[in-house]
Amino acid sequence: MTTPIPRPSAMLAELTHRCPLSCPYCSNPLELTKREEELTTEQWADVFQQAAALGVLHVHLSGGEPAARRDLDELTSHAVKAELYTNLITSGVGLTKAKLEDLAARGLDHVQLSIQGPNAEIADKVGGYKGGYNKKMQVAEWIAEEGLPLTVNAVMHRGNLDRLEEAIELAMRLGARRLEVATVQFHGWAVKNRGALMPTREQVERATATVASARERLKGELVIDYVPADYYARFPKPCMGGWGRIGLAITPSGKVMPCHAADSIPHLKFDNVKDRTLADIWAFGDAFTAYRGTEWMAEPCRSCDRREVDFGGCRCQAMAIIGDASATDPACEKSPHHGEMLKLAEDFVAQDDDFTYRPNA
Ligand code: SF4
Ligand code: SF4
Repeated sequence: MTTPIPRPSAMLAELTHRCPLSCPYCSNPLELTKREEELTTEQWADVFQQAAALGVLHVHLSGGEPAARRDLDELTSHAVKAELYTNLITSGVGLTKAKLEDLAARGLDHVQLSIQGPNAEIADKVGGYKGGYNKKMQVAEWIAEEGLPLTVNAVMHRGNLDRLEEAIELAMRLGARRLEVATVQFHGWAVKNRGALMPTREQVERATATVASARERLKGELVIDYVPADYYARFPKPCMGGWGRIGLAITPSGKVMPCHAADSIPHLKFDNVKDRTLADIWAFGDAFTAYRGTEWMAEPCRSCDRREVDFGGCRCQAMAIIGDASATDPACEKSPHHGEMLKLAEDFVAQDDDFTYRPNA
């Protein structure tokens, strides 16, 4: 039986890899796309129209830092014209009050502001950008003045996980409706920094308890999304809600991927919006059909009751740790490699490295 082709609802548009910050956990690839290779305004406009026709409802305007694109205003208008719900994912650095007012007037729906830590000392150290924290605080005020809904995105790791309560307080102070507590995922630059970023098991357990009690306390005021640490989990996360099932990502140069980290799987062939329509790539592109549905699965996933709950977990993580993208995610306790993953976590905790900062593209 062939797998029916689903329709995507969300698209990550990585407008650029350029970014003034240098976060050691940056999920952008090691090889950053150069400015001259980025899709033009017109090409993105066409992609937004094609995405809407395919069923996409939400577009995340992301990067790098999307404000590094001088045409962010026009791109926002094109996405709005395509009737997509627009979410700007930004570090805040590079935004001015006038720019934000203009984006709001053009119909921007939502802003997701990343914070690298709950105070200037930690945040500026992690982002490798002095003055970044104060700038973000200013941008959050402007977002509130424009009446735009705000999500605060906090990537948590060994260096700041013990300050989670402060990050929650900060999100409340900034008037956020939603806080995304994302324990660092080891893709892109983050792989180089596992020895500096890997949280301890005790930190992760405390963070899980902190999130549970904050959710209870702040019910009706702040929604907290929590991405727990894979390395100490019993089961994996349903990566992207299933491969090629509900979402897709487009790189700054137009490569179409089932997930923003998918190019860490070397044998996958990615199509480009410059060569093929989005609908064709989504339905029949090699990278999308490789792990769609459940037919590709081997044991233990193949006969597991959770195979349509977590879809076997993260393909990139299976690739990174086992060297086989079609294997069960080693975050799963049923994987024969689960013990290796735990051992790796302990080894990285013991390394206690300094940050290797991401270079600016
Ligand atoms: S360096 Fe930091 S702010 Fe910039 S794209 Fe990477 S994670 Fe985001
Ligand atoms: S065996 Fe596969 S489907 Fe079952 S829980 Fe583990 S990763 Fe999920």
